[in-house]
Amino acid sequence: MRILVVEDEDRIRRDLRTHLQAAGYVVQEAGDGEEAWFLGDTEEFDAVVLDLGLPKLDGLTVLKRWRDAGRNFPILVLTARSSWTDRVEGIDAGADDYLVKPFRMEELIARCRALIRRSAGRASPVLQAGPLLLDTSRARAVVDGEPIALSPLEYRLLSYLLHHRGRVVSRVELVEHIYHDDVEPDSNALEVLVGRVRRKIGANLIETRRGHGYLVSVE
Ligand code: CA
Repeated sequence: MRILVVEDEDRIRRDLRTHLQAAGYVVQEAGDGEEAWFLGDTEEFDAVVLDLGLPKLDGLTVLKRWRDAGRNFPILVLTARSSWTDRVEGIDAGADDYLVKPFRMEELIARCRALIRRSAGRASPVLQAGPLLLDTSRARAVVDGEPIALSPLEYRLLSYLLHHRGRVVSRVELVEHIYHDDVEPDSNALEVLVGRVRRKIGANLIETRRGHGYLVSVE
């Protein structure tokens, strides 16, 4: 899952990156409104954390432009305590949730998790496929009642496929949503990764659709 963090205060932005990465997300940062608008318009994200007070282009304008352009990723807006009018305007402009600064990281991460799973049409934080249970609130997997150890990358792969269960996910889409931006995986890295995950969870859960991608099907 890939999250765009838009925040002009370096300290908060770095903090957000560290905590979101530790929670199993790939993070892209933007420090002003123009950069944010461009990234959100041209790249794919599973959620966006958007501060409203931004240099160059304010957050509310960025939000409206994305929605006008048909960008429909879930957006969590960050606002100052006093500005309730901003929050109302933000929600009316297409924000899905908001948090008032200062906030607890744990709460922000829980809200991002909920936004992502709701936008994928999942109500519960525990995703299931056959004997596999993936608890996204704790980044843990269980097969037939036995906990299995996953690396952060293996977890991101499984989480993305399970959020999009029933749909064939292309290799390009998978790479974009599970690898950090400074990593250029070589051509068979994804296959090797899928093979490793299959050995841990059982060979049949992740299907390969030749020329199309991977699928966790709905029984
Ligand atoms: Ca700000």
